[in-house]
Formats: sequence, C-alpha cells, structure tokens
Amino acid sequence: KVRVRFAPSPTGGLHLGGVRTVLFNYLFARKHGGDFVLRIEDTDQSRYVAGAEQYILDCLTWCGLTPDESPVAGGHYAPYRQSERKAIYRQYAEKLVMEGHAYYAFDTPEELDQNRKEFPNFQYGHAYRDTLRNSLNLSQHEVDQLLDAGTPHVIRIKMPADEHIGFTDMIRGYVNFDTNQVDDKVLLKADGMPTYHLAVVVDDFLMKITHAFRGEEWLPSAPVHLLLWKYLGWEADMPQWAHLPLILKPDGHGKLSKRDGARLGFPVFAMNWFDAKTGELTPGFRELGFLPEAFVNLLAMLGWNDGTEQEIFTLDELVEKFSIERVSKAGAKFDFEKAKWYNAEWVKKLNAESLKPKVAAVLADKGVVVSDDTYLLQVIDMIKDRCTLLPDFYQQSVYFFQQPAEYDLTAVKPKWTDAKTDFFNEFASKIEVSSTYEAVELETMFKAFMEEKSFKMGDVMLPFRIMLVGGKFGPHVFDIAALLGKEETISRINKALE
Ligand code: GLU
Repeated sequence: KVRVRFAPSPTGGLHLGGVRTVLFNYLFARKHGGDFVLRIEDTDQSRYVAGAEQYILDCLTWCGLTPDESPVAGGHYAPYRQSERKAIYRQYAEKLVMEGHAYYAFDTPEELDQNRKEFPNFQYGHAYRDTLRNSLNLSQHEVDQLLDAGTPHVIRIKMPADEHIGFTDMIRGYVNFDTNQVDDKVLLKADGMPTYHLAVVVDDFLMKITHAFRGEEWLPSAPVHLLLWKYLGWEADMPQWAHLPLILKPDGHGKLSKRDGARLGFPVFAMNWFDAKTGELTPGFRELGFLPEAFVNLLAMLGWNDGTEQEIFTLDELVEKFSIERVSKAGAKFDFEKAKWYNAEWVKKLNAESLKPKVAAVLADKGVVVSDDTYLLQVIDMIKDRCTLLPDFYQQSVYFFQQPAEYDLTAVKPKWTDAKTDFFNEFASKIEVSSTYEAVELETMFKAFMEEKSFKMGDVMLPFRIMLVGGKFGPHVFDIAALLGKEETISRINKALE
C-alpha cells in the first residue's frame, strides 16, 4: 500500500514550497488510494518554535489537505512526533556503532573549532578523523572509560572514502554522490536526541513509508540516508524518493526565500505567521484574501502541468490528473500577479453560496451589518467577477449595505445644472409611482425620460451611478438600482441632491 509522509520541522510558518510538498504528497497518496502521514520532526530543540506545529495543522486544514495519520489524528504507527519517539532511535545508532558503520565522537566544541582553524577545508570525515577525539582512533579501553565517566559524546556515521553511491529519483532519474564530499554527520546528539538524518530513516522505515517527496534542498542529505538504509539492513524497504524542484524568485534568480516576501511585496507564507519571540508578523496568503482552492491550485502548477493548456483544477481533478512524471526538474518561478489571477478565476468559478461565509466575514470585519442572506447572495453574484482577493468584496459591495458616505464628484460637479437636478427629482417621482421595479424596465424608463428631456447618456448616467454607488465603478447601474430596491434608490437620489 502506498504510504507517504510530510515531515516538517516545527521551526516557523509554512513557506509556499512547504505547502507544495504537502500537496504533492497528498495528491500522490489519494491518487493511489494510499495513506498520507504527517510526522512532526521536532528533534532539534534549538530550532523548535512554539506554535509552529499548530500552525502546520491549521494550514493543512485550511488547504483541505488533511492527513490520515498525525499527532492529533493518531494512527497505527503513533506517536507521530519524533520528540516522543526519542527512546526508539538510540538502539539503531548503537547497532550502527557495533557493526562498524558509526562511531562515538567526544570532541568538545573548542576542539572542533581548533580543527576548523587549522585546516581550511575541514570536514568531519575520513581525511581528518585521526586529528579528532573519537572511538576510531582511541583504544577500546579509552572509549569505555570515557563512556563510563559520562563524557559528552555524539554518534557519527562513518562515511566511506572514495565511493560513489546513488539512487533513482522519481523526478531526476539516477543521481549519485561522491562519499568524499560528505562529512560524518551526527546521528545521535549529546542530549540523546537523534538528528534529522537518523530519525528520518528510522521513522520512514518503521512507518512503512513507500514514497517520500521533499524539497530539492534535501538532495545533498540523500547519500547519508542511502547509507543508513543500507547499513541498517533495510535497503529493500527504502522509499522511492522524489526531490521537488525549487520555487524561484519571480525573475528566476535563486530560490524564493522566507525573507523575500517583505522585499518583493507579496506573501511567501500560507497563513500569517506571528513569531512570538521576535514579535514579527510574516503575512500569509490566507489573510490577504486568497481562497484555499486557488492557493492549492496555484501551488500545483508550480512545477507541474497535465500536458494541456488547462490551468484551473479542483483538488479532485488534481488527484485524478496528477502524475509524478509530469513534475519538472527545473525550478518554478513564482509570479504573484499570476497567483492573483488564479484567485480571481476561483472567485468567478465558485458560486455565491460557497463564497458567502467568507464574504460575510470580510464585511463583518469592516463593521458592515448584513441582515438578509438572500440579498447578500444576490450582491455576491452581481459583483464577484470584479473581485480578485476577498477584501475586494468589501470595496465592491459596501454601497449595497450602506448609503455612500461621500461621492466622487470629479466628473459631475463642473457640469452640473439645475436642469439635471430637476431631471432626477422627476425621475424619482416616476419611480415612486411605477408598479414594477426591474432592471430592464427601469433602464427603458430612464432612457425615454432622458430623451424627452434632451439629455445624452453622458449627462445623466454617470451621475445616477454616483448617487447610488458613490464612485465610478460597479456593475450595470440599473442592475444596482434594481437590487437596491425602489425606496432605497429614491432615498439615495434625494440624499445626493440635498
Ligand atoms: N524535517 C525535514 C524538513 O523540515 C523533512 C525533510 C524530509 O522530508 O526528509 O523539511
């Protein structure tokens, strides 16, 4: 059975790339009727950030990418938080030591610094092992003494010299590494916690993960993981890996980083991330007014397409069409204007009923009181094609709920005449006595009266809009008037003429 995992470290908010990794995991699992596991990789206490795990869970909920197994949902392979699995890892690290694939290292930070100073290319690897204090060049007796005395130590993998190791990546094909380039990574830290390298391999094995999608930035760690799978004797169960292409800055120059948002003026996080330690708020797509449907859709298109021109996909369609063969190796440029286009398309695509709760929240947030649900639905239908992000709904619809507080008179004032005032006064009376109040009839009536009074469209049409809306925007003016209703239209004409 296909089993995939998203394995974030709770070190902060989720960046676009992180959510795309979640999405590809999710799509692959759903497509193959498999399980999607969320595992929290919180073994690095120094990078742990309170609130980050909750943020990740909330983010998956917002995106509709709910895991089947997770720290909150539980599951057969629980616990799903690595800090709660601490006891599991040591035995594997020790097994590796016993079998000669790993070793104890007792170096103090000062000793390591000394080596870095002495050797410009220093890395904790075979070329320098002799200069260090570790169980490979101490006698068994010395090692036992150090261990008995409780000397702080770590366990490191013993990277072989002059070997090439490789694997076949689902996206990149065969990739291989020169072991001389890889240092002897720490597997178990002095505090007894495993490092990411050990924990990720042990847990992928114990949790029976079959496919692992992760960002390209993890590719350099692959040789360490490959060797661990091999040394632990689990090679046959190693998941198939797919290293997802980077998300690049809009100009294509380099990876889009967490800090780029502020500089480039758009969010790179899924949702607002408030860092309690620094007091900094990093803005997110959700709070900016993106719909989760659009967010998921645009992420899917960063590095994938279905081979056609189609760009708008529902999550179900993505599940159906997704294939790892169509994920590109090359980095995907992120274009914020295009991201907004996706949102606008989704606002058009969703019906008023599904947009209603979100629009209602935007309006409530601005203090707009909406008492009639049916009216709100009609308003949404009328204006949604003019909205890109959710806050646009406020600007585009507030006049349906409140009389304009001010009027944009730039185009009206210089040409205003008493004859125009008379026109609108009389038109208001005409509306008052008309038996129906529909957009088409209203338009006919307005135009007939306009001709009768020898006005041209430009003379009275824009003023009518400004009386109703306050500005030079919005849908067809007679549609607005009809939806506002007879009394409200008259009241707005009168107020404007005051
Ligand atoms: N804990 C790693 C991260 O923070 C997971 C990498 C992987 O998926 O192997 O991204």
